[in-house]
Amino acid sequence: MTISKENTTGRVCLIGAGPGDEGLITVQGLRMLRLADVVVYDMLANPRLLNEVRPDAEHVPVGMRGESDKLSQDQINALLIDRAKQGYFVVRLKGGDPYLFGRGAEEVAAVTRSGIGCQVVPGVTSGIAAPMAAGIPVSRRDVASTVTFVTGHEDPTKGQMQVDYRALAGLIQAGGTVCFFMAVGRWQEITDALSGYGAVAQTPVAVVERGFTPLQRCIRSDLAKATKAMKQANLKSPAIMVVGPVAAISEPGLEFYIRRPLFTQRVVITRTRHQASKLYDMLSEFGAHVLEAPTIEFKPPEDWGQIDKAITHLDQFDWLVLTSVNGVEALAKRLGFLSLDARDLAGVKIAAIGDATESELRARLGIQADLVPPHYVAESLGQQLIDGGFVKDRKFLLLRADIARPKLHQMLNEAGGQVKDLAIYETKRAQRLPEDVLAALRRKEVDWVTFTSSSTAINMAEMLGGERDLIQDLNIASIGPITSQTVRDLGWTINVEADPSNLRGLVAAIVQASHANTKC
Ligand code: SAH
Repeated sequence: MTISKENTTGRVCLIGAGPGDEGLITVQGLRMLRLADVVVYDMLANPRLLNEVRPDAEHVPVGMRGESDKLSQDQINALLIDRAKQGYFVVRLKGGDPYLFGRGAEEVAAVTRSGIGCQVVPGVTSGIAAPMAAGIPVSRRDVASTVTFVTGHEDPTKGQMQVDYRALAGLIQAGGTVCFFMAVGRWQEITDALSGYGAVAQTPVAVVERGFTPLQRCIRSDLAKATKAMKQANLKSPAIMVVGPVAAISEPGLEFYIRRPLFTQRVVITRTRHQASKLYDMLSEFGAHVLEAPTIEFKPPEDWGQIDKAITHLDQFDWLVLTSVNGVEALAKRLGFLSLDARDLAGVKIAAIGDATESELRARLGIQADLVPPHYVAESLGQQLIDGGFVKDRKFLLLRADIARPKLHQMLNEAGGQVKDLAIYETKRAQRLPEDVLAALRRKEVDWVTFTSSSTAINMAEMLGGERDLIQDLNIASIGPITSQTVRDLGWTINVEADPSNLRGLVAAIVQASHANTKC
């Protein structure tokens, strides 16, 4: 008997993505996700997790219940089975934990019935994590000894209520915690039912909306006033409603998530998508809500002729000067393309502008720069080379962006050096600002805009066109003096400037300024 391919390789894995923050997926979940041929994902799974999926994998978004244009549960089951039968490794990525009010068990049963292998990776549930991010521990020895998870949205096809509100009220009266999922819009029914069975009016209630995300909100109240408070705050799904004494706990240490220095700050970053992730991660780590608006795209030079000639004859130069991380990356790639490596740079001295360029050199090529100027601008490097007596009658190869300033070239020339100045990468303005960023700017829902080079500022101004004023009243953070000057020339005002002129300096400057703002 021949065994067909689909019966040996096709399989399904349900993975819990955790709630909100993409970092809450488990290590095993992430490993499996990276192997997927097909990913079928919920709206509640953080979309940034899709960056972990192989670019050639198929992405299938499927909605939550209640969204009529999205796939039904039967259709989802059929999709999982169909793709697995075609021999694919299908990952079903679900928000929180797959089994907790997530129909995970139904999907496993359907897949298994069709003869396909199925695995499950548990996830962090929002029932615990969302209250945690709001400073609420769901259990605490001296306060709550039971935690109950309840669906606030009874399946109407069940015909009768399965939730025993009398029992829940009893647990709450004994100090227990009840976490309601899918309770948005049902505040009245839930609080009425609990009160009706004897839970006292002063029982603490907290609702955490979009828990473990930078947009998280938490409204605290009590059983008697909860409905009004939640309606007033216009809380939307997804949210967890916590009922019981723990919902009143408020202590600084427990509020680690909301006390991060940039929590509630909305920051636009303007670098290329390729470069953005480091800044994104650093800002997110401090709690900021980061909006990506790439203003630049990089592309290789149209013609490699001169560059190839220079890097295959490096012995003709005394110094190789690299002015950016991107320049190092482009050089490393080109060396590889030409079947060269770091050994071919052995005879030439290397100067780098900026500590990021320096560490990129070490990481990509294993090379320690011979010279890194104290200030991360071309003038500082030029001066140091001149002061060191390294310039007169020496030959320099400058590999830089097409739009780099001519200053270094001029300084070296004037001091008697010979300079070969080549663009190893080209920059292009991005086409347009992403819709979500433009909308946020128009609604004044942005606190900071960051510029990490002059071109990010110039391009932003061009992309905004007649709407340049949208930036006027925002806080602007710049990476260094040259960028700041460009920003001023564009008619905007600089609020903070990084010192040192690198990403860490930029983030530190924003943190410091935000801290000062919240103090006054
Ligand atoms: N399996 C998921 C729950 C799915 S049901 C889990 O374990 O978390 C969907 C409900 O989960 C939402 O209606 C909401 O009540 C809750 N939920 C999911 N993500 C949330 C988040 N980030 N913040 C608050 N509640 C969330």
